[in-house]
Amino acid sequence: MINYISTRNSNISVKASEAVLRGQASDGGLFVPQNLEDLKIDYHRITNCDDFKSMAAAVWNLFLDDYGSGVITELVKKSYEGKFSSEKVTPLVKVNGAYVLELYHGPTSAFKDVALQALPNLLTKARSMNGVTDEIMILTATSGDTGSAALSGFSGVDGTSIVVFYPDGGISETQRLQMVTDAGKNTSACAIRGNFDDAQNGVKKIFREIPRPAEGISLSSANSINIGRLVPQIVYYFSAYRQLLDMGSIKDGDLVDFVVPTGNFGDIMAGFFARCMGLPVRRLVCASNKNDVLTEFINSGHYNRIREFHKTTSPSMDILISSNLERLLYYICGEENTASYMKQLEETGEYQISDAELKAIQDVFSAACATDAEGAAAIKDVFESENYLMDTHTSIAWSCLDKYERKEGVPSVVLSTASPYKFCASVLTALGLEVSDSDRKNMEVCHEYTKAEIPAGLADIWDKEILHNDLINPKEMMSYVVEKSMKSR
Ligand SMILES: *Cc1c(COP(=O)(O)O)cnc(C)c1O
Repeated sequence: MINYISTRNSNISVKASEAVLRGQASDGGLFVPQNLEDLKIDYHRITNCDDFKSMAAAVWNLFLDDYGSGVITELVKKSYEGKFSSEKVTPLVKVNGAYVLELYHGPTSAFKDVALQALPNLLTKARSMNGVTDEIMILTATSGDTGSAALSGFSGVDGTSIVVFYPDGGISETQRLQMVTDAGKNTSACAIRGNFDDAQNGVKKIFREIPRPAEGISLSSANSINIGRLVPQIVYYFSAYRQLLDMGSIKDGDLVDFVVPTGNFGDIMAGFFARCMGLPVRRLVCASNKNDVLTEFINSGHYNRIREFHKTTSPSMDILISSNLERLLYYICGEENTASYMKQLEETGEYQISDAELKAIQDVFSAACATDAEGAAAIKDVFESENYLMDTHTSIAWSCLDKYERKEGVPSVVLSTASPYKFCASVLTALGLEVSDSDRKNMEVCHEYTKAEIPAGLADIWDKEILHNDLINPKEMMSYVVEKSMKSR
């Protein structure tokens, strides 16, 4: 059985389902499998599977072993069957000079769907396995992508409800409509008269003060530090490898590089696990935008969050504290050093790892960053030369292709994390087209010009009924949650 321990203290040790249920360890650390050796397998066990779902079941069985394989088969089916518009779930496309792994064919057209369609099922099962009778109410503050993906994932899932707070006027029209048209009976999307920080602070306060807002209801979070969000992401690294084999682009055993548009380090951490399991991965390339805290860290060993925060056209990568990096630190530096670095980060805003630790990271990871302008140029170039349209996050990773040491004969796979239609205004600007105030108009213009298909989930939001109209002051968030939890009982 795999032991999940806190990255800061291995005495805190739980089974997989408990790690999913708790989300975060009681000492502030994150749950990780204690020994990487337990994860080492013959990777053919996964790449030889027939389809994405069987690969998912094989990966989940390894990491989430206390669920049992029968349960896992059922949960995988629930999570992915009929939910993704591509039969491959995460299809691989060859674009001149590299490959693009499209992770955005889920219900909200963002890569977070791969994990957030799975987490609710993993969480409700963990609840019954651990004798928890309380219903789970998920509480999230969102500046865009996470909120819609979480709403969609939890929508209609028995034993759960979800409340998402977003800044009024602070998210795109598309993102707002994706949330306020959600038809789940257990979902609420509520605007706050304030900015994202107000929403975030309000949520933190509620977690602190009323973890059980009503009898029989416990609060929980859907954020990316839950191991139940990370495990489902490991699968598509194997799926990419299998697709390269099927395309005849590699021979079995050949090495592959992955270039990952990174924010919270969850996506690329999943790649690290895939590599530890034995998948032939040469380098994992951490791609950042102008917020280059991870580029500096991977190149120098110095993590420093005391720096200017840049708002970019790849907002899901705008980050100063990259939470999942702590999981990598545990494997490289051990629990004591990890605890110490995290304490330094909290107290001083920075830490420096040792030369030996840095070298161990650099044996696997490369890092590069690109500006909005470089990303925009990549969108235009790749569209004009290859007739392939990328979003603003993918294009940052694409721009990093020629900023790391590529090796002759080793294919590079760029992870594509959002549909270009989710960030349509920036994509139009990159293409040199006129942008309107209306997202709907922008999508139409973009479609007319590029002929790229508009995802079904985005094409019809304009005509759907608006079901969530709530608008409150930050001060009212707590009573809002109490009221919703009384109703959901
Ligand atoms: C969340 C997100 C990312 C960053 O992924 P991490 O796992 O946080 O590193 C990149 N692109 C898009 C579109 C996202 O929504």
